Amino acid sequence: MKAKKTIALIAHDNKKAEIVNWALKNKSALAEFELCGTGTTAKLISEATELSVKRYLSGPLGGDQQIGAKIAERKIGIVIFFWDPLAAQPHDPDVKALLRIAVVYDIPIATNRATADYVIHSSLM
Ligand code: PGA
Repeated sequence: MKAKKTIALIAHDNKKAEIVNWALKNKSALAEFELCGTGTTAKLISEATELSVKRYLSGPLGGDQQIGAKIAERKIGIVIFFWDPLAAQPHDPDVKALLRIAVVYDIPIATNRATADYVIHSSLM
């Protein structure tokens, strides 16, 4: 049997309601994957959907870096990352590093809802 791919879920504060709403809408598709996420995002999504979501540290406390490390270890294959283009983030260098490492390892990284919809419904999944 093929191992399940792992999806990482991350959203900045102004985007949390949007990612929870997206996760609820796509709950049955997400249930086919292993899920993980940064601290608060993972908690909110698992509470709303009742899916199991492994929690890393909160983004500003190193969660983005932990997820980046798992991408480099090839343990995370897809990232859904609703970042906020309208607010400065204290951990901006970590955000940039995460985007970079996803490109280095050529994994799908959806950074808005429209792209996340394409990714989760892709026949390549
Ligand atoms: P959080 O982290 O899910 O713990 O809020 C997200 C982020 O800001 O990177």
